[in-house]
Amino acid sequence: MTRDLAAMEHREYDLLVIGGGILGCAVARDAAGRGLRVALVEKEDFAYGTTSRSTRLIHGGLRYLELYDFGLVHEGLHEREVLLRTAPHLVRGLPFVTPVYAGDRWRPGMVRAGMVLYDLLSLGKSLPSHRMLSPAQVRELEPGLRSEGLLGGALYYDGQVEFPERLCLASILGATRRGADVANYAAARSLLREGRQVVGAVVEDRLSGKEHRLRARVVLNAAGPWADEVARLADPRARPVLRRTKGIHLVVPAFTRHAVVLLARRDGRVFFAVPWAGRTLVGTTDTDYECSPDLVRAEPEEVAYLVEETRRVFPQANLGQIQHAMAGVRALVRSRRAAESAVSRKHRVLDHAGDGAPGLISLFGGKITGARAIAAEAVDVAAHRLGVRRASTTTREPYFGGEVPPERLRPEVSARAAALGLESDQAEALVALYGTAAGEVLALAEAEPELARRLTPDRPEILAQVHYAVHTEMARTSADFLWRRTGIGYAPDHGLSALPAVSQAMGRLLGWSVEEQQRDLRRADPS
Ligand SMILES: Cc1cc2nc3c(=O)[nH]c(=O)nc-3n(C[C@H](O)[C@H](O)[C@H](O)COP(=O)(O)OP(=O)(O)OC[C@H]3O[C@@H](n4cnc5c(N)ncnc54)[C@H](O)[C@@H]3O)c2cc1C
Repeated sequence: MTRDLAAMEHREYDLLVIGGGILGCAVARDAAGRGLRVALVEKEDFAYGTTSRSTRLIHGGLRYLELYDFGLVHEGLHEREVLLRTAPHLVRGLPFVTPVYAGDRWRPGMVRAGMVLYDLLSLGKSLPSHRMLSPAQVRELEPGLRSEGLLGGALYYDGQVEFPERLCLASILGATRRGADVANYAAARSLLREGRQVVGAVVEDRLSGKEHRLRARVVLNAAGPWADEVARLADPRARPVLRRTKGIHLVVPAFTRHAVVLLARRDGRVFFAVPWAGRTLVGTTDTDYECSPDLVRAEPEEVAYLVEETRRVFPQANLGQIQHAMAGVRALVRSRRAAESAVSRKHRVLDHAGDGAPGLISLFGGKITGARAIAAEAVDVAAHRLGVRRASTTTREPYFGGEVPPERLRPEVSARAAALGLESDQAEALVALYGTAAGEVLALAEAEPELARRLTPDRPEILAQVHYAVHTEMARTSADFLWRRTGIGYAPDHGLSALPAVSQAMGRLLGWSVEEQQRDLRRADPS
């Protein structure tokens, strides 16, 4: 991918997307697939926002059944199937255990009814149906669960995207290979107008400090929890559409074998303990949030809430050793419902023609699970404005890297990796991150065997991945590489053991000065 805002200034686009989270990237992929001339700008790095701070589930959302949001659940379950089929390297089925305890808000009969409904809403699915469990069966599956008061439970299946950051990249790479132009570290600061018509945006290149005027027939605001701010660039008095709520997660040493659905005793909320990257991801919370999404962080009382509620059911879990505490901001469409967790997760596509800003379309709300379908709906609205009649093709089209399923890819990748002296864990890691594009990474090491070197002895990643991230995936800082191109940043040492090798290689490839190199190292070191 080439990052060239100066060249973008000289082009006339059909669609300029503001925001490179899962939704903006999905919009770019869908629109480029329909033959539109697409540009996308992201003020930080792709997936920097809410997308990288989620529970990483691809699900209908069992708990939305309680809100009678059957349409939302059905759509989520349909999208789960689409993702399992079209992004098989990134999305997989995951077994969930739901224990039921005496005194819980959910009684065994309620759980059974919910499970039956969940199965009915996903008829024809590829994942297995649910099974009700006795207390002994629950404990057999999850021996760490407290046995006192355990009434039974259920086993069911949902999806997990271990690395949604790479689902964003898969969309954006798919879009650029169909002609889209994209830039990270490019912030839309104001909108270009001709009369009332929105005809593009003034974009600040945050790496060079220069401003660029990008022209497009339609501008699509996909700025997630920042979407009200972007909409206010058209009308400073626009009323907020979003209710923003905060959710946090903890990464701790592994203490479950399956994903486990838990009910907090304090407020009856549902939260999860999910196997993730060899550890357990615990979350989430849901509280109103008024500040800038750029400043969001996990507060001690939120951490204490998750620790206390988890310890109640997993008394032996090692929750004293919190490796990461992440916080993110949900963008929910405002409704009259009072409680944060009762607000619908339904999205809204708003054409601002009715508010005096024709040419601007905003996308509010929406989950990772539904991003593809929501993007198709938003591009339909944009295509209508543009007078284009081509329909979305993304239901069937594989994501970039998802053209061949991992089980069919493994033999070839393993053989090529072994020829380079790589071990089996390294071949597996390449397949899981890149899918079919693992071949592109290996080709770099085949051309220059020095690039087959591990970045650090205790990790599978190799130097070729840094080169690939810079040349093909637009990584511009070590933090981009550690946190959003690979998951090295989520290692217990926050990727610090790999940082010197990564920063040095990136500095060489991007021609950094000594000061730039030092800034990069400081930025990637959370301590
Ligand atoms: C705690 C939590 C748990 C969740 N768990 C799940 C889950 O398990 N499954 C699921 O499906 N969903 C989940 N979600 C919801 C899901 O994460 C979000 O709905 C989704 O990631 C939103 O994507 P987005 O692209 O709209 O927003 P974002 O990912 O926030 O992307 C918006 C982007 O716009 C950029 N931007 C903002 N302003 C500008 C500007 N002026 N110029 C250029 N760029 C700009 C930002 O930098 C940002 O990267 C969860 C959310 C939270 C908070």
